[in-house]
Amino acid sequence: MKVLKFGGSSVKSSERIQRVTQIVKESVYKQKVVVVVSAVGGVTDLLLQTAHTAAKGNDDYLNSLKKIENIHLDIIRSLIPIKSQSAVLGQVKKMLNQLESILEGVYLIHELTHKTTDRIVSFGELLSSFIIAEGMKSTDINVVRKNAQELIVTDANFGNATVAFEATNTKIRQYFDTESADVVLVPGFVSATEQGEVSTLGRGGSDYTAAILAAALDVSALEIWTDVSGMYTANPNLVKQAFPIQTISYQEAMELSHFGAKVLYPPTIQPVLEKEIPICIKNTFAPSEDGTIISKVSKNNNPIKGISHIENMCIATLEGSGMIGIPGFSNRLFEALFLHKINVSLITQASSEHSICFSINTYDAEKAKKVVDTAFEHEITQHKVKPLLVENDNAIIALVGDNMKNHQGISGKMFSTLGKNNVNIRAIAQGASEKNISAVIAHKDIKKALNSLHNTFFENQTKQLNLFVVGVGNVGGKLIEQIAQQHRYLLENLQLNIRIVGMANSRKMLINDDGIDLNTWQQQLKKSTVDFSLEAFHSKVTELNLQNSIFVDNTANETVSSVYEQFLKESVAVVTCNKIACSSDYTNYKNLKRLSKKYNAPFLFETNVGAGLPIINTLNNLIDSGDRVQKIQAVLSGSLNFIFNNFNTDAAFYDVVKQAGAEGYTEPDPRIDLSGVDVARKILILARESGHQMELSDIKNNSFLGPKGQEADSIDDFYETLKTEPAHYNQLFENANSVGERLKYVAEFKEGKANVSLQSVAADHPFYNLDGSDNIVLFFTDRYPQQPLIVKGAGAGADVTASGLFADIIRIGNN
Ligand code: ADP
Ligand code: ASP
Ligand code: MG
Repeated sequence: MKVLKFGGSSVKSSERIQRVTQIVKESVYKQKVVVVVSAVGGVTDLLLQTAHTAAKGNDDYLNSLKKIENIHLDIIRSLIPIKSQSAVLGQVKKMLNQLESILEGVYLIHELTHKTTDRIVSFGELLSSFIIAEGMKSTDINVVRKNAQELIVTDANFGNATVAFEATNTKIRQYFDTESADVVLVPGFVSATEQGEVSTLGRGGSDYTAAILAAALDVSALEIWTDVSGMYTANPNLVKQAFPIQTISYQEAMELSHFGAKVLYPPTIQPVLEKEIPICIKNTFAPSEDGTIISKVSKNNNPIKGISHIENMCIATLEGSGMIGIPGFSNRLFEALFLHKINVSLITQASSEHSICFSINTYDAEKAKKVVDTAFEHEITQHKVKPLLVENDNAIIALVGDNMKNHQGISGKMFSTLGKNNVNIRAIAQGASEKNISAVIAHKDIKKALNSLHNTFFENQTKQLNLFVVGVGNVGGKLIEQIAQQHRYLLENLQLNIRIVGMANSRKMLINDDGIDLNTWQQQLKKSTVDFSLEAFHSKVTELNLQNSIFVDNTANETVSSVYEQFLKESVAVVTCNKIACSSDYTNYKNLKRLSKKYNAPFLFETNVGAGLPIINTLNNLIDSGDRVQKIQAVLSGSLNFIFNNFNTDAAFYDVVKQAGAEGYTEPDPRIDLSGVDVARKILILARESGHQMELSDIKNNSFLGPKGQEADSIDDFYETLKTEPAHYNQLFENANSVGERLKYVAEFKEGKANVSLQSVAADHPFYNLDGSDNIVLFFTDRYPQQPLIVKGAGAGADVTASGLFADIIRIGNN
């Protein structure tokens, strides 16, 4: 004999019930079966809601009742053949009338006891089991329905009754001794007291009903049919990479379910464990998949079987100097909680005995505070103990595995993973049996904690980076292209899974928690109906709270750079080619660097100087290894280099500047390049990264622009001045050309001072032969005093800038 239990989602519609019937038919070929069913998915919640509405004296309860009625009548109409429909409808209406009378009573007296609640919710399973049995009869299955209230006896603790096993087992065996039907269909969840009053086994209790029957009848297997293919390594709704555990021990399954794996109601294991009846968790919607087998020993050697979590927990602390060295405090504390049926999930006590910290469900928080403060009233008035401190919005996460005790370093790995992902741990508990290590964390961190732990313990060490990209034009577009092209390579060779979860241009934004499909991102962004605002984008990043989140700024926008501070504080890394932040006030720059360290969130801006060239990284390596910068000389403007390389007697200055703009070598506002501000910002950043405190205003800037050019207050006016002052620019060229020299825009930092200026360089100077838009930096340091360390190469253009950003992103991944 076998027991098959089908949960609410498996019997949610007539099509689903037909699937269930098919599964039962296949089992009944071989042996007799007991089928346990839950209420139709969602009905228990609806019944509770209706009862509470009625208890408030709100006649809206009649609408909810109507909804419940329709759900069942709809199923009957499409499940039961016409000829027997009216009989079934008649019976069901009779049950619904009973329900209505009870609800009316609740409505009239404004009172809802636990006992009445049990009566009301029991209708869910009573209705579903009746309808499903009638549906099966119409397919020629030899089925009888047996009400579990006649089989399962409990105490009168309504809402969460305790089973009286002796009486229950006797009743079950007696009944089945004489029952000859192939299939006995039983409603889950419902039970009765010895006096015959309706009780229930707690939310999710149909699993327990099935286990009680399985143990009493000593069947060969208990199958729990649900909407997922087994017990997963973590809640599959929160961890996309989670997968079904093939085999797991009773103890492990019990720990996982106690710590929130809803797929199995925690008490379910107890009855079958003694008889060593295997439990198989199967998917009603994918019956051919293996599912999970829960038995005495697990064949799987992985020390960690799964990660689970409980939401809605609070952390409570009883603290006071009066507790030290005095025995009996914890006894009194937990006795008070026990007497008021407050369940404690986790306890920690420091060896100083100065405080005891424990975790309870938020639902019990208020009661716990009252109870504990009353129990310690005397000590509180004498200031020996402080009133109980209760903090909400927490959760417990737990690593579970029988074999953890034989492996060292698991808790170390667990806590360092959480630490690296900036998940703050409030309390830790590990039983001496080492089947479970649990920690209390903030509710907002659940998803990040589960995913990063899953990544560490189950995922071949692939690291997921979650990018939020602002600016998808020239540079941003190229970056996305490069990421799409390299995705597979990085996954296979560096175990990096780079996903773009959010992107935005100045008008719209696009967010996809599963990662945006990079083959069609343009169309998707175009179609997006969400307007871009920096606040909305930022809140989305915070709300998703994904592991290894990176904000990528491809703009030149000051407002965008003002949000870095908030990101870093939330442990979101920042990668940017926008120079504004690093060249703003020194205090702001320093603050961002400080936040980056404090919150363990990288802040990388290699592309601020020399696009993709490794200039800042080289400088950082020199400084970190103890070198000292004496002097930096550099040509840092790809735009100005392009302009002065192309400007000569045949090409007017105006035309060359226009061309540089058209080819994307200048900033959108060319004055930023031609005034020297852009280069000043770059040398400022290099000076700061060399360890010097300096402001932009400290950098001497001798403008080469004509008098009108220096004063132009719009982009158009500025271009106009280039046309009206050609002689000024021609003269600059002539002065250099006549002595065989070339014009280069040079930045210099030396002895704490920096300047930028247009210089005429001779043929033997390293800058003389700098082509196109190339950049060059000469680092003169203690280790390179005469022959400088030189970095040279293409220093402008969307492609190289994107690859510099990409390199920063990969650097974060490799860290
Ligand atoms: P049923 O209605 O069949 O009793 P439940 O909703 O009670 O189903 O339990 C199945 C659900 O449990 C899954 O849909 C999933 O969302 C949730 N769940 C939480 N943790 C886990 C886990 N570790 N493995 C599988 N499912 C889990
Ligand atoms: N119907 C009950 C509930 O929703 C019992 C169950 O489905 O297991 O909690
Ligand atoms: Mg369930």
